[in-house]
Amino acid sequence: MGSNGATLAGVASFRDYDAPARDTVREFYRLNHSHQTFDFVRAKKRQYLGLDHKVMTMWEALELASTLVDDSDPDLDLGQMEHALQTAEAMRADGRPPWFVVTGLVHDVGKVLCLFGEPQWAVVGDTFPLGCAFSPKIVYHELFALNPDSGVPAYQSPLGIYEEGCGLDRVEMSWGHDEYLFRVVADHLPPEALAMIRYHSFYAGHREGEYCRLMNERDLEALAQVRLFSPYDLYSKSPIRPDRGKVLPYYRELVESFFPRPLRF
Ligand code: FE
Ligand code: FE
Repeated sequence: MGSNGATLAGVASFRDYDAPARDTVREFYRLNHSHQTFDFVRAKKRQYLGLDHKVMTMWEALELASTLVDDSDPDLDLGQMEHALQTAEAMRADGRPPWFVVTGLVHDVGKVLCLFGEPQWAVVGDTFPLGCAFSPKIVYHELFALNPDSGVPAYQSPLGIYEEGCGLDRVEMSWGHDEYLFRVVADHLPPEALAMIRYHSFYAGHREGEYCRLMNERDLEALAQVRLFSPYDLYSKSPIRPDRGKVLPYYRELVESFFPRPLRF
C-alpha cells in the first residue's frame, strides 16, 4: 500500500471540515477550543513531562496507541496502526531514508496519552500557540469565543506575552501528542525528525504561515521539515489496509534499530 501513488490522489478531499466523515469532529473542536488554555498547558506539562507514567518499548507503545480512533480527524476511520503503517509505507515507496520512515511510523505514538486517561481534546487535533491571539486560520476559529483566554487582555495581540522572534521553544503550544512524543524521543532521532514530530499538528504555522512573528531561523527550518512530512500524514490515508504479514517484520527491525531499549513515557 502506498507503493503505486494512487493513495496520494484526491488531495483536495482531505481536511474537509465542512463535510467531515464523522460529525464528532466539530464537537471535538468545541471541547478542544474551550479548554486548551495557557494555564491548562502549563499544568499538563508538569503532569507529563517528567515521563514517569510508563516504561515501554516503542513497539509496545505503537500497539497501545493503535487501540484508538482519533475523533479530530475528518478523514480517518481506521485504527492508528493502519495510519502509522500507511504513512511509513508511503515514505518508503518514495525512497525516503530510514530516519524519515521511522518518524512516519511513530509520529502519532504520543496519542498513548488517551490511554493514560486524557480526553481526546487534550491529545489530538490541530495545535496552536497560547498566550497570544488565536489565528483566524485555525480550524473552527469561532469556537475560541468559548475559551477563557479570549477574555485575558494580555493574550489578545499577535505577540501576546511573547517577544518578536522569541522562537517556538519559548511559546506554549496547546497540549497534545506532538509535544509529548517530542520529549519522549528527544535523544533518539535527528533534529529534522524531531521537528516533524513536534509541529506536525501546527497547521496554522506550517500550512497557513501564521505566527511567523514568534518564530526564529530554526523554527522556519523546522517548519520546512514539517512540510516535507505532512503530505504523507494526510494523503496516505486510505481504507485499504497494508498487508501486515508482509511489512511488520521490516518495521519491527526498523523500530528496534532506532529505539533499542524501552523508553520512558
Ligand atoms: Fe498526529
Ligand atoms: Fe498522523
